[in-house]
Amino acid sequence: MYENEHGTQSMIEIPVIQNPNAPVWQAPQVKAIRRRTRKVWVGSIPVGGDAPISVQTMTKTKTSDIDGTVRQIDEAAEAGCDIVRITVNDKEAADAMAELVRRSSLPIVADIHFNHVFALAAIKAGVAKVRINPGNIGSIDRIHEVLGAAKDRGIPIRIGVNSGSLEEDILEKHGYPTSEALFESAMRHAQICEDFGFRDVIISVKSTDVRLMIEAYRTLAARTDYPLHLGVTEAGTTKVGTIKSAVGIGTLLAEGIGDTIRVSLTDEPYKEVEVGKEILRSLGLASRNVEIIACPTCGRLEVDLFKITNELEERLQGVKKPVKIALLGCVVNGPGEASEADIGIAAGKGVGILYRKGQVVRRLKEEEIIDAVLEEVMNFVPEQRPAE
Ligand code: SF4
Repeated sequence: MYENEHGTQSMIEIPVIQNPNAPVWQAPQVKAIRRRTRKVWVGSIPVGGDAPISVQTMTKTKTSDIDGTVRQIDEAAEAGCDIVRITVNDKEAADAMAELVRRSSLPIVADIHFNHVFALAAIKAGVAKVRINPGNIGSIDRIHEVLGAAKDRGIPIRIGVNSGSLEEDILEKHGYPTSEALFESAMRHAQICEDFGFRDVIISVKSTDVRLMIEAYRTLAARTDYPLHLGVTEAGTTKVGTIKSAVGIGTLLAEGIGDTIRVSLTDEPYKEVEVGKEILRSLGLASRNVEIIACPTCGRLEVDLFKITNELEERLQGVKKPVKIALLGCVVNGPGEASEADIGIAAGKGVGILYRKGQVVRRLKEEEIIDAVLEEVMNFVPEQRPAE
């Protein structure tokens, strides 16, 4: 029996149903340990090892439309993109690569399917990575020519396996695209690189089927140390693609799997970046950018938090600093949450208490909060990674 506002109530008995045959379910760790992978460099961006998880997109213009392609790159960079991929599917595209490399604000990955001549042209033009499956290039001489050129330039190769384009013999062996089939295909291409002594390899095993891609990446993660590029391929429109990508990529990242991500949407490249960054933020992995946490507000709110949050978000656009800001509207949860962030505000009646790394810095008037937080962000020194 227990009492509530409706008087004395009886406890409801919940029967315990035990099934001795049910498999034992083990809760995964709340915060998974990041899988350790070998580190490669895509231009100035490290991928794998202890590097922050990078966000990629792909331009959607004709590559030979240099101005249009550069515009999409700039928009993606503005949204926080780290690496951009560009298709090199014909001679005009190959010819455009040198100028695109020169004008791009981001490291470029050349996306090539079979043509080793385009791969060599892109490498010569100065791209930072090539996405190509060595087993699709043709003769061993051609393969060695491409791997040799990439090695000479010190650039990595991404092996991109897709459930929709598996090799016929692998499909025949497995019956249909399975996680093992994707793994086998990836290993076939990776073995070619390893045999040549080329080890700067990143792998992706994408599918439109979210469960399949999760299983395939888990298989790779369990058996290799290659850095992994995560993605749900042809995810769809902005709404559906965002959800599918958040589920697929997010599940893996939450398990500590994944080194770089690309959200595929039938939308502008910068939209893909925004969704990718949001997936990282939701898991506390967006370590290259400012992260703002704000309370949803309620009747206890004592300052205009909407205005403060929106203005800070706007004025911090494009600031690349791994800093976490917490803005809390009252003293109920404020001090605790604000002191857990790098910079925090716990508001009171028309005032805000400014926190830096858990310590109270000073008391501010409401109208001083925005400028004070901006100043803190500019002076914030991120933790330095130890020298390698
Ligand atoms: S921090 Fe205060 S104002 Fe914000 S939601 Fe919580 S109780 Fe409400």
